[in-house]
Amino acid sequence: MSAKKRILSGMRPTGKLHLGHLVGALENWVALQNEYENYHLIADYHALTTNVETKELYQNSIDMVIDWLAAGIDPVHSPMFRQSQIKEHAELHLIFSMLITTARLERNPTLKDQVRDLQMDLISYGHLGYPVLQAADILLYKGVVVPVGEDQVPHIEITREIARKFNNQYGEVFPEPEPKLTKFARLPGLDGDSKMSKSTGNTVLLSDSPEQILARVKTAVTDRQKIRKGDPGHPDVCLIFTYHQKFNLSEVSEIRTNCESGALGCVDCKRNCAAKIADALAPVREKRAYYEAHLDEVKAILADGERRAHAVAQETMQQVRAAMTIG
Ligand code: ATP
Ligand code: MG
Repeated sequence: MSAKKRILSGMRPTGKLHLGHLVGALENWVALQNEYENYHLIADYHALTTNVETKELYQNSIDMVIDWLAAGIDPVHSPMFRQSQIKEHAELHLIFSMLITTARLERNPTLKDQVRDLQMDLISYGHLGYPVLQAADILLYKGVVVPVGEDQVPHIEITREIARKFNNQYGEVFPEPEPKLTKFARLPGLDGDSKMSKSTGNTVLLSDSPEQILARVKTAVTDRQKIRKGDPGHPDVCLIFTYHQKFNLSEVSEIRTNCESGALGCVDCKRNCAAKIADALAPVREKRAYYEAHLDEVKAILADGERRAHAVAQETMQQVRAAMTIG
């Protein structure tokens, strides 16, 4: 077994990745990939909680691997794999589902936010159990660090509770993982109301061209009290200002002064912001184009990741079965 500690982190293949993924999770994945052994999960079963359409799952999964590679994930260090291809996820999920109450899952704030954002009237049994499957995802690989956005922190807490419960009941098998957040753990979406999210569509995509980025950023809701250039603005309530803090750090104080005085209008400010985002995404776009033209390479990376992940998952399940004496 490798001496390095493991990281497990994943994303749902529900569409192309956006800026929130990059600044909330992917940047940490890349930063930590030499220090830890990173396992990156394509959560295709989790996608079923909000998307019943399965025809696009495979293509979305391939697109996501391309986005991950483009963001700098090194497939030699970091296996990437689909949850649905490794049956041990389903097996461990079933065992874990006996170790947590429905009342605990109903208190999950992430679920409440999602139900509100997606205006869902009813949720499935599997959707309620989302964090239980996620606990299985993380603990199958004995992940000790989970680099995620803020919305996922309550899920990591549930994972810790399940690990503790299992260890108390059957013997020490699992670590209690810690979440790892970036400075931008909840990047707001272009509508200004909720976090940037694939399902809500309030996004700038990693694959967007500079023109598309500008068009998207132009639609952003800014300071609602600043109607026209000349009106004094309130940068702290403006999501474009948040984006400047990430993508245009050197001009932040100048932008604050000029926005507050009214000298800087939203149209110019957005144009500048879009250009800086486009610059930041240029290397990602370039790598993306390479992998889009080398799909066989992408598929081979996925197959290799699935083989490596499966070996670890099988080993953990043997330990689980032995601890539970269900051999
Ligand atoms: P969906 O709307 O389908 O749930 P999503 O955009 O929320 O998609 P996920 O696949 O659920 O994306 O999340 C993948 C990872 O990216 C998680 O760690 C999540 O916390 C992080 N993440 C997603 N959106 C943001 C955001 N706006 N800011 C910071 N991190 C984010
Ligand atoms: Mg989500």
